[in-house]
Amino acid sequence: EPGYPIAKIRRDFPIVHEAIYLDSAAMSFSPEPVVNALIEFEHRYRANVGRGVHRFTQIATQRYWHAHTKVARFIHGEAGTTVFTKNTTESINMVASGLDWQPGDRVITTILEHHSNLLPWRALAAKGVELEIIGINNDYTLNIDELKETLSKGARLVAITHASNAIGTITPVREIGRLCRDHGALLLIDAAQSVPHIPFSLQEIDCDFCCFSGHKMLGPTGTGILWMKEQNINPLILGGGMVESVSQDGYQSVEGYGRYEAGTPNIAGGIGLGVAVDYLEEIGMEAIRQHEEELTTRLIDGLSRFKGVTIYAPAEPENRIGVVSFTIDGLHPHEVAERLDADAEILVRSGYHCCQPLMERLGLPEGTVRASIGLYTTENEVDLLIAAIKEINQGR
Ligand code: PMP
Repeated sequence: EPGYPIAKIRRDFPIVHEAIYLDSAAMSFSPEPVVNALIEFEHRYRANVGRGVHRFTQIATQRYWHAHTKVARFIHGEAGTTVFTKNTTESINMVASGLDWQPGDRVITTILEHHSNLLPWRALAAKGVELEIIGINNDYTLNIDELKETLSKGARLVAITHASNAIGTITPVREIGRLCRDHGALLLIDAAQSVPHIPFSLQEIDCDFCCFSGHKMLGPTGTGILWMKEQNINPLILGGGMVESVSQDGYQSVEGYGRYEAGTPNIAGGIGLGVAVDYLEEIGMEAIRQHEEELTTRLIDGLSRFKGVTIYAPAEPENRIGVVSFTIDGLHPHEVAERLDADAEILVRSGYHCCQPLMERLGLPEGTVRASIGLYTTENEVDLLIAAIKEINQGR
């Protein structure tokens, strides 16, 4: 696509020259400005945030909270409504453990979910919470009719992924947001695979909680986000940093979302995440989406020509992200991934992708091979994967 600055982007990510990396759904790379922000923190002003008055702590505090504002703006939310966590998993667990559950409350989730958006809800069974799991259609899209029917019986919360990390399906979260509002259910969106790859706006998606990971959106590892519309959960972690005052037998929380960040946070990571957001905005999410969608279609078209290769993905580009799961008849997914690395320096994921119930539902007890696209992926890299799969498929 003319105008997409792929050459400049690849200069900013030296690691792309080390291998053909098609595993960005698991972990994206960080560009030089993010790495430099981490180094600058260490070399110039390393200090805790919100504690004390000296100049280092002032710079650290200002930049750390400014990063929150940038992330909130990136998803078109209001400043002051984001909590920095370790990852998506922690964000989801904070919600699951932070709501006051009553016996008989119902949670609705789907078969598409990552284990991280399933196990925290399952664990609520101990509190008498019922869990419903919505299925998918034969074309790998969400069964929205089943969701509507289940929701019509009432639910406290719907927890759903915006985009599947295993088969790439995009779910209709705008419509689901309206349905949840109509039925008085809270909505949690697992946006780990959408915020980094498609334009995302809380102005269009009416949800209550939005969870995603910094390390999948060019940010440092150990960074995650919990966006909340209101402060309607109890903090999971108590202690320093989240209190205004503490007496012999009580405490007063700080105003605002800072009360969900007790203890010294991942300061450098948070600041680096803010720089990652700057980087994504500079390229533009529309451009990133278009680039990744073109490569995804190219990959699916290429692989679908091979007899013996089966692809598991929605047919329409607007229903899928740059995640392409496939199997080769007679070969274990791990074997394919090992061959790709050994023979062609191509790095892909294989196995269940932390979605074992989905793999079982698809009749894939060994899982799949998964290639996933990033903003720095090239057409040539996709073609090299197609050529390598052709060879492995012919040689079996
Ligand atoms: N949900 C989805 C859709 C994911 O892709 C992932 C990461 N593979 C997670 C949740 C969990 O993210 P993390 O490991 O960063 O907590």
